Amino acid sequence: MIVSVTMNPSVDISYPLDTLVINDVNRCDQVRKTAGGKGLNVTRVIHQMNEKVVSTGLLGGMLGAFIRENLSKEGINHHFSDIEGDTRNCIAILHDDGKQTEVLESGPVISEEELVAFETIFLNLAKTSQVVTLSGSLPKGVPVDYYSQLLTLLSDSQTKVILDTSGDSLKCALTGEHKPYAIKPNSDELQALIGEKVTEDYTNLPDMLTHPLFDGVALIMVSLGKDGAFVKYEDSFYRVKIPTISVKNPVGSGDSSVAGLAIGLAKELPIEDTLKYAMTLGMLNAMEDTTGSVDVTQFNQIYDRIFIDK
Ligand code: ADP
Repeated sequence: MIVSVTMNPSVDISYPLDTLVINDVNRCDQVRKTAGGKGLNVTRVIHQMNEKVVSTGLLGGMLGAFIRENLSKEGINHHFSDIEGDTRNCIAILHDDGKQTEVLESGPVISEEELVAFETIFLNLAKTSQVVTLSGSLPKGVPVDYYSQLLTLLSDSQTKVILDTSGDSLKCALTGEHKPYAIKPNSDELQALIGEKVTEDYTNLPDMLTHPLFDGVALIMVSLGKDGAFVKYEDSFYRVKIPTISVKNPVGSGDSSVAGLAIGLAKELPIEDTLKYAMTLGMLNAMEDTTGSVDVTQFNQIYDRIFIDK
């Protein structure tokens, strides 16, 4: 079983418009509303791959109910903790040939009692599962070291934790006592962590990944978009090469590759196969219009075209 955590989910609304007219009424007849947030993308992709997953985190208000209903309709297991505040909307206006204007609500403020209630649910689900994914930003009211606190809660269990976040909450988790098993920064996130630029030929990645900040993290997968990934697993480095594909929408590809890592780790696959799973799902997501969605019928065809140099 894989547990996927989304602390700051959203209902993602997209408004496709030919032209966005500022300071006037814009009418839209093709509204799309989906359960959003990085962890929910991870959940959906694992479910589409027909692997066991349960989604948890914090939900409140009518939009929280919408997300629960949406997951149930898709047949996805979920057990979220209730909050007083309202789950947020994130709005993307797609306009003028490929432009995207976003309005992102900051979301509810979480109380200490609400976090305690969540932790009971989290521990019950997580301590008996093989893999936990922690994805995305933390809502207001949640301490910046909260992912570190969740890692401490799991420190007595065998559960492997994949942490996919950025900024201070990632730094806190890496400097805490109990490290995540795996992280998946992209090159911008890695750059922000270490304060050094990833070179265009990627030759400085081995040095960057041996930075003391990563001590104790078994698996670091630096995803490189169309260039695949560079990975440190235990004391070895891997360059994962992927074929060129026709890309429709790469948003959510990082989350889909986290889903692949989680599946590989839950199945206890060899590291090379786990990395191929991660790349394949990232690519399959990029080949779809919908964020956090893959066409599983194309899995083998992509998987067989990925090569790894150790
Ligand atoms: P993030 O969304 O976190 O920035 P990436 O953009 O690196 O992550 O994407 C994660 C993975 O998805 C990549 O390692 C790759 O396998 C796949 N992917 C993303 N963008 C592309 C692309 N343009 N072409 C091929 N594969 C892609």
